[in-house]
Amino acid sequence: MTIESILPIPDIFSAKKVLCIQPHYDDNDIAAGGTIAQLAQNGAEIFYLTVTDDLAGVVDRSLSAEAATVSLVRDQQAAGKIIGVKQHIALNYPDAGEYRYFDLRANLLKYIRLLQPDFVLTCDPWLTYEAHHDHLQTGRATAEAILFTGLLNIPSSDPAVDAAYTEHSIEGVGFYYCREPNQIVDITSTWDTKVAAIRSYATQIPPDDADQIVMALQFKSAQICEGKDFQLGEPFKVLNPRALHCGL
Ligand SMILES: [Zn+2]
Repeated sequence: MTIESILPIPDIFSAKKVLCIQPHYDDNDIAAGGTIAQLAQNGAEIFYLTVTDDLAGVVDRSLSAEAATVSLVRDQQAAGKIIGVKQHIALNYPDAGEYRYFDLRANLLKYIRLLQPDFVLTCDPWLTYEAHHDHLQTGRATAEAILFTGLLNIPSSDPAVDAAYTEHSIEGVGFYYCREPNQIVDITSTWDTKVAAIRSYATQIPPDDADQIVMALQFKSAQICEGKDFQLGEPFKVLNPRALHCGL
């Protein structure tokens, strides 16, 4: 017997409604755009929730915060159309700035209870040597919000959402940028879609940098496919939500 026979690893492609929670505007697409595009093509509803305002990485420092935000949102809408995102939600915490973990967790609880996804994707907060606070905070708060979704004694940021919430099941969570992947998704067919989406983020990724990112991603995406019967993949640690506590 294995632990997987008791808590089976969920199938990402069984998902009908996917909430992709990212620290910055481009993380979902850089890490998981090929997988998410396939989910959208399969008919799943895709929601993107971005935790920060993403202003730290804006290349043109002469832009005001307002103008930079307009530009960032335009990039994200363009990328979202390419990938097949149904709706974007922005929490607008300060990028690389100070904000409270429990405040973020309450907001994530709100949107998980409101949207009732059956699958959640986010960044792995346990990635070795991950230094970016937004990534650590986003991954941890998302994991804990998933664990507490059905526990209404733990309030979200919106009492009306909590009052209306009826219990639903989250089948799985997939961590990208992960330390110990247990699933490599074949993205050979959606690689070009992913690259086109990444190139949409021109406000924070100039064309030369985009070339370098794409080359590095292509190398890593091919490297993790060694021994597999496909060429390009995205790694995930996919867990049953009940495995998010006490080492199960
Ligand atoms: Zn990021």
